[in-house]
Amino acid sequence: MTNADFQALTEFLPADRIITSPAEVERLSRDFYWYSPILKRELDDKRAEVVIQPKSQMELRAAIQYAYHRKIPLTLRGAGTGNYGQSIPTDGGILIDLAALDSILEITGDGIAVCEPAARLGAIETAARQSGWELRCYPSTYVKASVAGFCAGGSGGIGSISWGGLRENGTVHALTILTVEEQPREIRLAGHDIYKVLHAWGTNGVIIRVELRLAPKTDWAQLAVAHPSFDKAFDFCEALALNEGFKKRLVTCFEWPIPSWFTPLQKWVPKGQALSFFEIADDQLERLTHSVTPGGGEVAFVAPYSAVRRGPQLSDFTWNHTTLWALKSDPTLTYLQCGLSPTRAREQMRQLKQRFGADFLMHIELVKWDGIVTPGSLPVIRYSTDERLQEMIQYCGEIGVSVANPHVNFLEGSGRWRPDDEKLVAKQLFDPRGLLNPGKMRGFAASLEKAPVNALEAAPAYGD
Ligand SMILES: Cc1cc2nc3c(=O)[nH]c(=O)nc-3n(C[C@H](O)[C@H](O)[C@H](O)COP(=O)(O)OP(=O)(O)OC[C@H]3O[C@@H](n4cnc5c(N)ncnc54)[C@H](O)[C@@H]3O)c2cc1C
Repeated sequence: MTNADFQALTEFLPADRIITSPAEVERLSRDFYWYSPILKRELDDKRAEVVIQPKSQMELRAAIQYAYHRKIPLTLRGAGTGNYGQSIPTDGGILIDLAALDSILEITGDGIAVCEPAARLGAIETAARQSGWELRCYPSTYVKASVAGFCAGGSGGIGSISWGGLRENGTVHALTILTVEEQPREIRLAGHDIYKVLHAWGTNGVIIRVELRLAPKTDWAQLAVAHPSFDKAFDFCEALALNEGFKKRLVTCFEWPIPSWFTPLQKWVPKGQALSFFEIADDQLERLTHSVTPGGGEVAFVAPYSAVRRGPQLSDFTWNHTTLWALKSDPTLTYLQCGLSPTRAREQMRQLKQRFGADFLMHIELVKWDGIVTPGSLPVIRYSTDERLQEMIQYCGEIGVSVANPHVNFLEGSGRWRPDDEKLVAKQLFDPRGLLNPGKMRGFAASLEKAPVNALEAAPAYGD
């Protein structure tokens, strides 16, 4: 960017929302990429040249138009809680911090939350609950994370045991994007069309509105159960996950010593035991607790669901927060994102433990992927060398454990790339100059040489 570019930004944004201070630009150019020792090495020196903070769609549109005209890379940031450096600008340029576009526009009578891109998931949960609804699924970062960041970068979380991943069951009702063109178009994608932009890491459209389907509100309770062995804990969790008679939002289990890293919980965490965390319908708590002792366990903690921001929740130690607590204790730890087989999980876990022992610690999140209860896993693993990490990933593949690799910084390598190329075609249409989050969709540049899409001809096929 030239001095003239910096000057030009002041034509459509006040100076206090054009951030050039190196420390602040660096802070806002970061996410949780450092979970991965590989990404830490690769991305530590990457940052934007300037950060802008639009407060209106007019300002956002003007910035996009200018960047298009000058071919300046654009990277979008919600709250910057993403993993894998999704919102780290690898080619400099402008980072658009969308945090100020955070309104919840409406909770409709039939349970759809209509939101600006940076509405926080915690705020949506609070507003939804006031209207008799709640989020179907949300990441453990819900207090800070933005709804568009979740759609562009996340996959599921608390609630996924009942509602599946974010991409399932019509949970994302519609996404409205702005394209990066000479005249940015506003396009509403609904139904199957959402997959063009969902989990595309902000590479192929600027999400300006999200419509999320909600679930009817439930009063939840929190329960922690200790078991003398991980096998027993897993049996108990799996039985609960499979039992449709229980209404649940969270079914998580950890191998010891993972619970020893949950510093704020040490008052009651039983030493040396496997630990399971549950969010269960409050009126079913008693029934569930009665089954704990016959299942070989012991109730370690019970609490009401204390709602957003009123003190720590058990969910603050689940999903990728588990890795955070582990990393705080021991920086040589990192993680993988695995899918175990619903029918062979016990055998697969035994194989992994036999091969890697204490370097591969089990953390299971039971989820319902495509309608099937599945042991998702975010194992806490010890990093020693790239080769050892690669060996773990490869061995998972050999025994039928899928891995969405969190140690790569491009979409195709991260495990959720769809072979039908619809995200890539969408990028050709919505970001023809390839300015959005450059480098994160690796196939884009090569695809243009092979088979450029005529954006103008194909465009009417999209949205409504
Ligand atoms: C401790 C911890 C726990 C986590 N737990 C979970 C979990 O349980 N489940 C889960 O799915 N994820 C989890 N994550 C990852 C992350 O927190 C979530 O995916 C979160 O929803 C991201 O939201 P964000 O606003 O921080 O997005 P950001 O990090 O700001 O952005 C994420 C991606 O979205 C893009 N983006 C942001 N805004 C827009 C926009 N308006 N239009 C287009 N693209 C945009 C960015 O460019 C980037 O590629 C966790 C991360 C951490 C650090």
